[in-house]
Amino acid sequence: TRVLGIETSCDETAAAVVTRNADGRPQILASIVLSQIEEHAAFGGVVPEIAARAHVEALDGVIEAALRKAGLTLKEMDAIAATAGPGLIGGLIVGLTTARAIAAATGKALIPVNHLEGHALTPRLTDGLPFPYLLLLVSGGHTQIVHVAGIGHYQRWASTIDDALGEAFDKTAKLLGLPYPGGPNVEKAAQGGDPRRFAFPRPLRGEARPDFSFSGLKTAVRRAASELAPLSPKDVSDICASFQKAVTETLADRVARSLERFRTLHPSDSEPALVVAGGVAANGAIRAALEELCTDKGFRLVAAPLELCGDNAAMIAWAGLERLEAGIVEDAASFAPRPRWPLDKTTSPLFGGGK
Ligand code: ATP
Ligand code: MG
Ligand code: FE
Repeated sequence: TRVLGIETSCDETAAAVVTRNADGRPQILASIVLSQIEEHAAFGGVVPEIAARAHVEALDGVIEAALRKAGLTLKEMDAIAATAGPGLIGGLIVGLTTARAIAAATGKALIPVNHLEGHALTPRLTDGLPFPYLLLLVSGGHTQIVHVAGIGHYQRWASTIDDALGEAFDKTAKLLGLPYPGGPNVEKAAQGGDPRRFAFPRPLRGEARPDFSFSGLKTAVRRAASELAPLSPKDVSDICASFQKAVTETLADRVARSLERFRTLHPSDSEPALVVAGGVAANGAIRAALEELCTDKGFRLVAAPLELCGDNAAMIAWAGLERLEAGIVEDAASFAPRPRWPLDKTTSPLFGGGK
């Protein structure tokens, strides 16, 4: 099986070809990601209109590049998978319309894919991870813990009650005058900083509910920054280190609840797995903290390779391939892009269309 994947939900224009080899192993034959960082940097964040136009200009070339790299033609694909949500509507329209046109012209199946399902299934592409597992999804727009029991069997156990974690990183960066995208720059600035200089809050720590909250942390950063202004490079570095320390401790506390719940639900699972996926999963301090938590709780941490943490089309092609093989495909003919599309509302095999 070979699937062409297309991803245009935010500020990356991406195309990829993924296959399952005769021996059953998944393989990425090509994965091209064209970032729009330069287009948006001057504005300190993603500008939807600019993003949509950039996708229109870049997508055909990115698809051609992926096919060339894979050494394959459209005729040799079994299906075309495209992100149909959640995300910025302009980009979603560009990607899904292009995929629909290709599918119609070549007579291939069109598979609308939920972007979050792409993040969620990545460890099956990279590590062949079996179901069930617990997913910590930390990205620009989402912070969730999801119980992943099978394709379309996603149950949300926890989510943020305010900001997403990536958003907290991005806002903190902006407050400190660090360039967009914030996450990697906060991580870089934190290196060598003093994580004990600022006592930032650990929101919801110790509470029985399993959810997350990050807006209080951002407010505390704002207060510290305005009290110290103008900030020296050392101040910025110390704030970032203290922020990251607060984030890792908060995550460990919050995620621990759900690890316990997972263990109770699957008492005979001898090697339960926690997957961390999404753009923020690229953060080294967070990976280290989760590794420690998992060791402590008898879990195995499965983290996506760095190039597959952020947005890419390999994960979309893979989610499409898994859906194709399982025979669980959203009704493509009438499928309209969905700017909001919770993961637990994807089509599932037992319960039919979760529209
Ligand atoms: P979603 O997947 O929720 O729709 P998105 O696709 O925009 O949102 P991703 O591309 O998965 O999000 O992740 C981007 C986010 O990851 C940004 O908020 C970015 O700052 C953050 N990020 C990237 N690298 C790092 C890092 N090293 N440390 C912390 N955050 C990071
Ligand atoms: Mg992005
Ligand atoms: Fe994403």
